[in-house]
Amino acid sequence: MKHLVLTTLILLSCLSSFAQRSCGAMENLQHQLATNPDMAIRMEAIENQTQHFVQSSSNHQRTLITIPVVFHIIHNGDALGTNENISDTYIMAQLDQLNKDCRKLNADASLIPAVFTGVAADAEIEFCLAERKPDGTATTGIEHLNMGAASWEDTQIEATLKPQTIWDRNRYFNVWSVAFGGNSTGLLGYAQFPGGAANTDGVVCLYSSFGSTTTPNPAGGQYAKGRTLTHETGHWLNLYHIWGDANCGNDQVNDTPTQQTSNFGCPTYPHITCSNGAAGDMFMNYMDYVDDACMYMFTGGQKARIQALFASGGARASLATSNGCTAPDAVSNNSAGEDCSDPLPFCTDSGDTFSAGINQPSAPAGNNYGCLGSQPNPIWYYLRNSRPGQYQYTRK
Ligand SMILES: [Zn+2]
Repeated sequence: MKHLVLTTLILLSCLSSFAQRSCGAMENLQHQLATNPDMAIRMEAIENQTQHFVQSSSNHQRTLITIPVVFHIIHNGDALGTNENISDTYIMAQLDQLNKDCRKLNADASLIPAVFTGVAADAEIEFCLAERKPDGTATTGIEHLNMGAASWEDTQIEATLKPQTIWDRNRYFNVWSVAFGGNSTGLLGYAQFPGGAANTDGVVCLYSSFGSTTTPNPAGGQYAKGRTLTHETGHWLNLYHIWGDANCGNDQVNDTPTQQTSNFGCPTYPHITCSNGAAGDMFMNYMDYVDDACMYMFTGGQKARIQALFASGGARASLATSNGCTAPDAVSNNSAGEDCSDPLPFCTDSGDTFSAGINQPSAPAGNNYGCLGSQPNPIWYYLRNSRPGQYQYTRK
């Protein structure tokens, strides 16, 4: 029996280390299209806006986009740094890798074949760890959540996990790290394309894929260097697989060669298919299926699709102005945990006092702190637990 268990373990570990990259983004998209008739309409509008941007002069008016990101690390009670409750070391390494890849600052960009260096692009997008939660309170941007299950199928993730844990997708890029199980065993990750539902928007990755080229995840095999999140983030940013998910298909990008299908492992350059010329497949693109060590570029055409999302009318434009990476300060968050960071509504805190005002003979009763509506001087404080009126106000 012991021998059998050992054999099984060896078999499993061989399977996992030699398994081909498996991304569920297109399956997720097909499922969403099948169950939500509005999504195809939304995606068509997004594609129209994208093509207009790509073909217009505004395509050249790009700026660096910075997006707040929150990492939801899902576990079932494991100690921090154990199994799927990965330590912040690998999350920080992962964030660093994602940012380097998106800015073409990855060290292995030097491996891009000369024939492709002209189209390799800095996508001018990067991610900052959230410093404020949707409710305005402080956060490290890394949420270790015991959700009571050791592993998750995509159906459970979509129906339960994401809706219960997601932060406002108009202000944050949501990334979940999980152990996949059931029908999703073997999956490395999947993403939701722009146009999908608000309560499931984001990217899910296998916990052991979180790492970087310099800090690979010890449990990640050939997918230990953080490129799974780079690939899935590409989908979240409206990029398709480079082979267009069809035989010599179309990925809606002009500067990526047509290629027959996905490449796996670490191909030898050149790999010529679909009569795509001497340079062959751009298998080192993040949107192919090769190993982490063998993908290291986005193109200018892919960048244009990404940037379109943040242009005027773009599907993810609100993220570019999110305050999710601005730490709350003591004044802007009161004792009730309310976010009062904006100039209005004016905010008061526990211990502040109100006294009789012009048309109020006595001080208001009860607990009056909270975010309050205000008007130009003299300010009217509409108090939550007392009668509205014009009062004298003193900060504690
Ligand atoms: Zn994919």
